[in-house]
Amino acid sequence: MTLTTVTSVAVFDGTDLLDGAWDVSFDESAIIGVTPAGTNPPAGRIVDGAGATLLPGLIDAHVHFSAHHQLRALARSGVTTALDMGTWPPLFVAALRTAGAGADLRSCGAPLAGPGGPHADIPGFPADSLVTTAEEARRCVARRAAEGADYIKLIVERPGAGGPDLGTATAAVEAAHAVGLRTVAHASHTAAVKLAVRAGADVLTHVPLDTDIDHDLVRTLTSGGHVVVPTLTMMRGTANNLGDPALSFDHARNTVAALHQAGATIVAGTDANDAPGVPAKVLHGSSLHDELTLLVEAGLSPLEALQSATSVAASTFALHDRGRIRPGLRADLLLVTGNPVTDIAATRHVQSVWTDGEAVDTAKRSCTSSGGPPAEPGGRD
Ligand SMILES: [Zn+2]
Repeated sequence: MTLTTVTSVAVFDGTDLLDGAWDVSFDESAIIGVTPAGTNPPAGRIVDGAGATLLPGLIDAHVHFSAHHQLRALARSGVTTALDMGTWPPLFVAALRTAGAGADLRSCGAPLAGPGGPHADIPGFPADSLVTTAEEARRCVARRAAEGADYIKLIVERPGAGGPDLGTATAAVEAAHAVGLRTVAHASHTAAVKLAVRAGADVLTHVPLDTDIDHDLVRTLTSGGHVVVPTLTMMRGTANNLGDPALSFDHARNTVAALHQAGATIVAGTDANDAPGVPAKVLHGSSLHDELTLLVEAGLSPLEALQSATSVAASTFALHDRGRIRPGLRADLLLVTGNPVTDIAATRHVQSVWTDGEAVDTAKRSCTSSGGPPAEPGGRD
């Protein structure tokens, strides 16, 4: 065990900026102590935190993987937990889970989709993920659960665009709930959001580029307790790259602003991926800092944006051992220069990162060594 103490540091504990300066000690077992600076003689390896802020390690609630080094890239940027929203085959996901270096992974495995939508055309998309009936949806959810999925991801398209129909989507959600799993629905058009909500999806990811979602839908999402992971980084990249005049990033930002004003739960996620053919390439790790900036531009306070990537993300996905700085929790920690509660851009100024109490080498290497995943891993949307 390596005891480390960060001394005289400002602390954002996942919920609030604590008053004054603090000494925070931890090892590989847990965060041990959070005490006013100078109360106790600091012990173990000392890290001077003066002028810096200590945060819980960040959580990116929408990531895809094609290589092991992406876990390390996330950790270097302070993202200590990655919620994978579509990666296969299962052997590759299992290897990522036990990689032992970089961000800690949760995964849905391969998402469920309809055979007529764009996802069915992704090279290597697993045929057993294409569902057209309630019975097929139930069988697919059972397979994902048996593979160890932490939640179920469902691709919902607007009616007529080849996604699962309402009955199929509802059966998937109910089957997931029956085995204690939450459902995350990809919904990037307003009509798809409506279908996903009617199907009972717990979490919706992406926000429409085709129109602002209307007040009734904002109310339904908020009062129904649905969580939204907007992936503004991906929506901005998509709007820029597709060049379709019918799609605008303004709609995505306006929708997040309306959801925030209505009190909806918003969780930070980027859709980081490097899959060929995706509308926008989103870098693992650094993109979460872009997402935080975009959330603030959409009306969240810096404090709310930080909560969306720490305690709120942890609560949404029942990660009760992280997302806050509190004795007994995992020592997933990020030390940054300055104060991101007053200037969100400060999260980019990473001094140190610890995953489970272990220091991450934050120096970016010139070579991007891959951990050698099995053949043809994939992940998208
Ligand atoms: Zn995605």
